[in-house]
Amino acid sequence: MIAPNTPTAAEELRGAGLRVTAARVALLETVRSGDHLDVEAIASGVRDRVGHVSLQAVYEALHALTAAGLVRRIEPAGSPARYEGRVGDNHHHIVCRSCGVVADVDCAVGEAPCLTASDTHGFTIDEADVIYWGTCPECSTARTS
Ligand SMILES: [Zn+2]
Ligand SMILES: [Zn+2]
Repeated sequence: MIAPNTPTAAEELRGAGLRVTAARVALLETVRSGDHLDVEAIASGVRDRVGHVSLQAVYEALHALTAAGLVRRIEPAGSPARYEGRVGDNHHHIVCRSCGVVADVDCAVGEAPCLTASDTHGFTIDEADVIYWGTCPECSTARTS
C-alpha cells in the first residue's frame, strides 16, 4: 500500500518543523489509520503503540499536528472533536444524527467549488467545511425494523 517515496511519519513531522517524538509519530500513525477518531480513541491507539502517554500530551500533540497541517480537526456540533489524516483537499463530512458516525464526502463538484463563496465579505478564504447531517443506513434500518 505504501509507495516507496512516501515519507515516514517521522520525516513528515520533521518536514513540518516539529520535534519528532515517539508519541507524535504514534499519534500521526493512529490518526491516519483510523477513521475520524475522537481524542479518547486516539489516546488508546497511541498507548497501544508506545505505552503510557497522558491525555494532556495527546491533546498537545494533536494541537501541534493540527496547526502544522498534518492532521485535520472536525467538530460536528454537539459531538466531540474528531481528527483525520486526510488533509488539504477540502473534503466535507456527513454525520449521523443518531449514532454520530462520520464519513467523508468529496467536495461538491470538481475542484473545491465550495471555496468560491457567494459573498466573501472581503476575506481570503482557505477552507470550506460543510457538514451534512442525516441518518446513516444502519440507524435507518434499525428504526424501520
Ligand atoms: Zn447512525
Ligand atoms: Zn474526513
